[in-house]
Amino acid sequence: MYSRDVVDETFRLKALGLTDKAIATQCGVSVQAIRHWRYGNRRAPATEARRQNRTTYCPRCSNARLDEHAYAYLLGLYLGDGHITASRRGVYVLWIFCDNKYPGLIGLCSDAMQKVFPVTSFRASRGDGCTAVKATSKHWPCLFPQHGPGHKHSRRIVLETWQQKIVDDHPEPFVRGLVHSDGCRVLNRIRKGGGKDEYYEYPRYHFSNTSQDIVGIFTSSLEQLGIPWTSHIQRQPPFKDKTAISVSRKEAVARMDAFVGPKH
Ligand SMILES: [Zn+2]
Repeated sequence: MYSRDVVDETFRLKALGLTDKAIATQCGVSVQAIRHWRYGNRRAPATEARRQNRTTYCPRCSNARLDEHAYAYLLGLYLGDGHITASRRGVYVLWIFCDNKYPGLIGLCSDAMQKVFPVTSFRASRGDGCTAVKATSKHWPCLFPQHGPGHKHSRRIVLETWQQKIVDDHPEPFVRGLVHSDGCRVLNRIRKGGGKDEYYEYPRYHFSNTSQDIVGIFTSSLEQLGIPWTSHIQRQPPFKDKTAISVSRKEAVARMDAFVGPKH
């Protein structure tokens, strides 16, 4: 006998578009039990019909609910260090690259993907100290319409109205996502006058990107949060210059620490 809560949870996950196998694993019940609760003694519909049902789940084109907090974070990660590739038959793969030095961030990235979409995310080590967290769906371009050919810095990146609204409503997770992908919190050391090996240490945040559009989106969110910033150009020939943003005033760093903090 299972509790009503477990049965309800299997229906909820089904509505989100998970496969019976995934629901069974998540709820710790058998696939047969799930199908029995759903169909009783009726015959289950053909596999093709079930697959159709699953692929219609989309927060954009089928009005499914979107976890906006998780989306704001994932959008920050995507704009910073993610891309979408087309694979077979209209299926897309979202890739977000994470540094192996920060296993905590890899976990946050997988969680955000799964909250935005009932997908299973996979981790693939690239062998260069990076892990790609990736997940497959037909609907990634619905959620990230910035998808297009070439590098993000070689095309215009403009948020759609609905995305801008989410970013305006959730600037903190959005900024956190951008800093987690293309930024960092560093400790600056300054030698104390007179003392030999004594230093002042003070933290600051950096963010840099080659896309002026992405930098502009980042700094407007900082302004909305009342966080002062400065910018300078980082030359990196033969590559395109980067624009580097620094947040270094004490109160501003404290404000960022409240919702970003060091990478982990
Ligand atoms: Zn869609």
